[in-house]
Amino acid sequence: MKVAFISSEVVPFAKTGGLADVAGSLPLALEKLGIEVKIIMPKYKTVKVKADKTIIGRNVEVLFVENEKYFGRDKLYGDRFGDYPDNIERFSYFSKACLELLKKINFKANIIHCNDWQSSLIPVYLKTIYKNDIFFAGVKSILTIHNLSYQGMFDKSQFTKTGLGWDLFTVRGLEFFDRVNILKGGILFSDAVTTVSPTYAKEIQTKELGCGLEGILEQRANDLYGILNGIDYNIWNPKKDKNIAKKYDANSIKDKCVNKEDLQKISGLKVDKNIPLIGMISRLADQKGFDLVAAIIGDLLKTKVQFIVLGTGDNKYHILLEKIARLYPAKSSINLKFDAMLAQKIYAGADIFLMPSRFEPCGLGQLICLRYGTVPVARLTGGLQDTIQEFDANTKSGNGFTFSDYSSAGLLSAIKRALALYRDRAAWQKLATRTMGYDFSWESSAKEYADLYDKFAGNK
Ligand code: ADP
Repeated sequence: MKVAFISSEVVPFAKTGGLADVAGSLPLALEKLGIEVKIIMPKYKTVKVKADKTIIGRNVEVLFVENEKYFGRDKLYGDRFGDYPDNIERFSYFSKACLELLKKINFKANIIHCNDWQSSLIPVYLKTIYKNDIFFAGVKSILTIHNLSYQGMFDKSQFTKTGLGWDLFTVRGLEFFDRVNILKGGILFSDAVTTVSPTYAKEIQTKELGCGLEGILEQRANDLYGILNGIDYNIWNPKKDKNIAKKYDANSIKDKCVNKEDLQKISGLKVDKNIPLIGMISRLADQKGFDLVAAIIGDLLKTKVQFIVLGTGDNKYHILLEKIARLYPAKSSINLKFDAMLAQKIYAGADIFLMPSRFEPCGLGQLICLRYGTVPVARLTGGLQDTIQEFDANTKSGNGFTFSDYSSAGLLSAIKRALALYRDRAAWQKLATRTMGYDFSWESSAKEYADLYDKFAGNK
């Protein structure tokens, strides 16, 4: 089985969010299952590799699409003030370049696995412009939606940038309320659609979370699969993590507090292992629940807690968090940047990890924090619902603290339940140790992808 895995971001070369983690780890798990995978991504300025390709894992080739005009920029898609205005041009170019590259290197993939809107034109091109191209005869395309709220929507006047004919600018094509919708094209033209958790696969077929595409997703329900993301257990491993002050595992969880004190020290918080430290690492976007955090943070910081945030994104949340930093300088540490090393220190050093998402396709933060024995407080939506269960002191089951309604009261009450347990240090340590025993590595999910490839491509 040969698979071309197309992604606009891949760890360790470029990352804005979870897609990069998935694209940098799922192919390695697929390789272990005997699948030949090649990854293709744009060569952004952040890509430090000089050549036009490199290897990750045992032998997974990563090929870079080069174009200084489109990709030689500081950021991937835009800055805190908005998206780059020529994104449709940039990713139409990328999508076509991927297909041309496959021809050039003569990689006859059984499956072209596309991800999010940035490569959603590939399934469309395969069934239109490249329909009669003998090189792609029999190839199947799979589109994974990592977040339905990013659809690649553009003004109608930009449609010609895709290189597609106006006959495709219809309700049955890429037109969406008189605008261009690239993701919609991917959903309609790919052979199968997947998303990153079973619950989110159901949710996106509803009006509430379908972002206007619930109708066509329902139309494709027979070919729509929810496969839970995993994380790379070699990278996210407190026993091997070189970025943290003291390595530990479930047997030496007491050493976690060395990391907590280190984090308190480097972030200017009072060094005291008995003050519960609440962490949050997230893109600053409406999806992530910062409005709920803003509503409760004043009350919360009146109690004995510390709060550390790492994130970057929408300007309005930068402003909001800067205000929190000004109001509570002693008890908060607000880090408005992207910093992979600090992220690892927070996963290792915090006691509690917040994910109060409005919606969450899968969420990786909760999987990573569990791995580090940091207890999640999460809203039950999408992948959070599939991975986090409320802790029950009687049955000693569950791995976090949860709430259902999108409300600040719900969030505060879940945090308070966590803080109450935290006071019972022995019980807390037991819970933290147990969270480390959950297995959210790629093993079983990669098998589900492999089965899907077999189903659609036949085992050629
Ligand atoms: P999303 O894909 O919606 O951004 P996920 O929870 O699926 O959310 O994945 C987020 C990933 O990005 C995690 O690996 C998280 O640690 C990382 N991350 C988010 N913001 C930052 C940041 N500012 N610095 C470092 N890592 C970050």
